[in-house]
Amino acid sequence: MDKKLLTIVVPCYNEQEALPLFYQAIIEMEKNGELAPVDLEFVFVDDGSRDNTLEVFRGLSAQDSRIHYVSFSRNFGKEAGIYAGLEKSTGDYVVIMDADLQDPPAMLPEMLSYIGTGEYDCVATRRVDRKGEPPIRSWFARKFYRLMNKISNADIVDGARDYQMMTRKVVDAILAMKEYNRFSKGIFGWVGFRRKWLEFENVERVAGETKWSFWKLFIYAIDGIVAFSTAPLIMASIFGLIMCLVAFIFIIVIIVRTMIFGDPTNGWPSMVCIILLVSGIQLLCMGILGEYLAKTYLETKNRPIYLVQEEK
Ligand code: UDP
Ligand code: MG
Repeated sequence: MDKKLLTIVVPCYNEQEALPLFYQAIIEMEKNGELAPVDLEFVFVDDGSRDNTLEVFRGLSAQDSRIHYVSFSRNFGKEAGIYAGLEKSTGDYVVIMDADLQDPPAMLPEMLSYIGTGEYDCVATRRVDRKGEPPIRSWFARKFYRLMNKISNADIVDGARDYQMMTRKVVDAILAMKEYNRFSKGIFGWVGFRRKWLEFENVERVAGETKWSFWKLFIYAIDGIVAFSTAPLIMASIFGLIMCLVAFIFIIVIIVRTMIFGDPTNGWPSMVCIILLVSGIQLLCMGILGEYLAKTYLETKNRPIYLVQEEK
């Protein structure tokens, strides 16, 4: 029997309502024979939930021995959850899915059919619309992806979800990236391999609420840029260079003017403006530098990506 094993990895943070629905949806599909080409294994990750997610895990895993779970000592973020889930997975194929059914399980058979041919190492998905999302958020998101692709060499696709099915080879590649600042869209894009993209329309979550505020997303975007591009550092140098050039031209102009017209003392207001501008740019560049330094600092501490409270 060479039936392949598919591990379904589900990072969960306060998903006590959504998770049972999610599990039911998968079991339903299995009963209908839609997942016939594979055996299933579940890895649920409780990312320090404050509700009863862990009890839900315990309950489900008592009924179904194919369910394994990890519970973190606190909230470490979805990225850490994905990492822990991948580490615990044993399947030939692994798929990462959200607990809120925003990643339609109905796509699984198609993903399996692509990955089963052996032609692809990874079947990834992207949302083609951002229905049900505030318009400014969509606007910022689109700008972010455009910028990101210009300044980094990881292939980061607009609307790409973490919902993707991968072979063991890709899972191992991702696990080999042990960095602490895990920007998963960047990591998936960075590892490469043969990827097939599937598209779907946005689905709203079945229960509970999103964990992303606009501010959280903004910080996440900055983290992504710092993790996968050094362009802001180059920008700082270019800024500096331009400033030097301008200053040099000014010096010459002022020397020549003084020699021709003498030295009437005026121009203080403009001086103040220049000082403010230049010191502003300096602080900005220092901030950029500091951002990279801070990330380096965190990486060198070599802290674990997550800590386990309980697992099965
Ligand atoms: N999640 C997590 N840790 C967090 C935040 C979210 O494990 O700190 C999980 C969450 O339970 C869900 C998935 O990541 O399964 C996606 O989260 P959410 O639905 O809030 O994000 P959105 O779909 O709105 O992008
Ligand atoms: Mg969601």
